[in-house]
Amino acid sequence: MANNQNVLFLDLAGLHQELEQELLPIFQKALRTAGFIGGPMVEEFESDFARFCGVSHCAGVASGTDAVRFALMAAGVQPGDIVLTSPLTFIATTEAISQSGALADFVDVDPRTYTLDPEELREYLERNCDFDRSIGRCIHKTMRKRVSAVIPVHLYGQTADMDPILEVAAKYNLTVIEDACQAHGAEYFSKKENLWRKAGSMGQAAAFSFYPGKNLGACGEAGAVTTNDPAVAQKVRMLRDHGQARKYYHDMEGYNGRLDAIQAGFLRAKLLHLANWNQKRREVAARYNARLNHASTRLVLPYEPTWSRAVYHLYVVRAQERNELQEHLTKAGIGTGIHYLVPVHLQKPYRLMGFKEGDYPVAENAAAQVLSLPMYPGLSLAQQDCVIAEIARFEQIDDKALSLQPVARA
Ligand SMILES: *Cc1c(COP(=O)(O)O)cnc(C)c1O
Repeated sequence: MANNQNVLFLDLAGLHQELEQELLPIFQKALRTAGFIGGPMVEEFESDFARFCGVSHCAGVASGTDAVRFALMAAGVQPGDIVLTSPLTFIATTEAISQSGALADFVDVDPRTYTLDPEELREYLERNCDFDRSIGRCIHKTMRKRVSAVIPVHLYGQTADMDPILEVAAKYNLTVIEDACQAHGAEYFSKKENLWRKAGSMGQAAAFSFYPGKNLGACGEAGAVTTNDPAVAQKVRMLRDHGQARKYYHDMEGYNGRLDAIQAGFLRAKLLHLANWNQKRREVAARYNARLNHASTRLVLPYEPTWSRAVYHLYVVRAQERNELQEHLTKAGIGTGIHYLVPVHLQKPYRLMGFKEGDYPVAENAAAQVLSLPMYPGLSLAQQDCVIAEIARFEQIDDKALSLQPVARA
């Protein structure tokens, strides 16, 4: 068992030690001006992040969950509408749908990329919906509700296959809201436009989370909505601030969902590092790919299509004996995660809505087999080698156990 070092799943403390000298003056500046809510720190970050994503507007909000909810509401999703998304996501995606007053329904994922399958989306709409020309919207045949939006989730740092999703969405007049909470800086090659597009620039609006563990993380809670539509941006700015466009004139009821100024300041400083961090994550992934391909015969490695430049928020492999492998790595001092152990449609609130096992088999199979290995920009070569060696060792032990089985039975 003797293992040389522990390998953390994510070393957030190490990263922040390196940033301490950069972040402290920002905190000091906020203390000295007492500009804690709104103000130039927020606006400067918003404008930098909009530029980074290649969009014209960014509105900072209090979390990624608020970002999804406000994006849906600002893009015109109405209470009672159906909003489609992937069952293999964090529950925040579907919470935001429900909290906007809409009803979540699901479309299964592609077995190789784990992102929303455009063909499944097409089939869902063809099979379940009638297009009502008088309102220009799809109506669900049995639920008799408008299907008004779809949220592709750019999972693990890789965008969904957006060209065909946008094409189907245009045909059926669905609003597209990207859940880019795991994909800051990820890129998608649009064949239709013949150019690389950044995550967060392809739908009517997109949601980002700056939860500390994300590729761009605050030192607390934070999120943002990006969009090219000025009206959507304006609506998000009202929703996050009690529905006011001018102080104490409330055009509607909103929320307390603003981005904290100190967090905006931290995020602005960290944004300068993001491209470099993402590049390092890609290097870690490339090395895992090359070495694991040798070391392991049984793992399914991440699949990055030619249209994708993923930013590896997570490095996710698949294994038949996932739980045993995770246990082996844990014993060897290696941190891992499972994203996600239970697909959203099988979580209690959605089971109560009638979803059950077998509804989305691709997502369910993935959930039973996925394992996230240590991944962060500062992961050293030695640490990576340690992970790779332990995976190889697990397979050898397991092979022996398998070959002994007939003897044991005899
Ligand atoms: C993190 C995350 C969210 C929610 O973000 P918070 O900032 O934690 O509210 C939403 N969707 C996905 C896919 C996420 O990974």
